Amino acid sequence: MHELSLTQNLIEIAEEHARRENATVITSVTMEIGALSGVMPEAVEFAFEACTKNTLAEGASLEIRHIPALGRCQKCGQECEMESLLDGCSACGSYALDILKGQEMALIELEID
Ligand SMILES: [Zn+2]
Repeated sequence: MHELSLTQNLIEIAEEHARRENATVITSVTMEIGALSGVMPEAVEFAFEACTKNTLAEGASLEIRHIPALGRCQKCGQECEMESLLDGCSACGSYALDILKGQEMALIELEID
């Protein structure tokens, strides 16, 4: 389950940030998950519980935002939102899309005390 290592990684980043700010507790964490990241939000929630034990983020609330992916058509240049790799270009129907965004999972907001 790669959600576990991804989540662990983001919690480490969150902790580093909180320590730099001399915070003692992380109260809330917001993560963004791209539609093409292959990451299951439920798995992240589960991993978050497990990974935050004995960290500054223990007991923190987790907000997960789903973001659509963005592709650019190799044929006509149209940029379109994608929910899966099976989505074609919204203008010409081509499936040759370069993925610009949406394959990542990222930490976007942190509340610390
Ligand atoms: Zn197109």
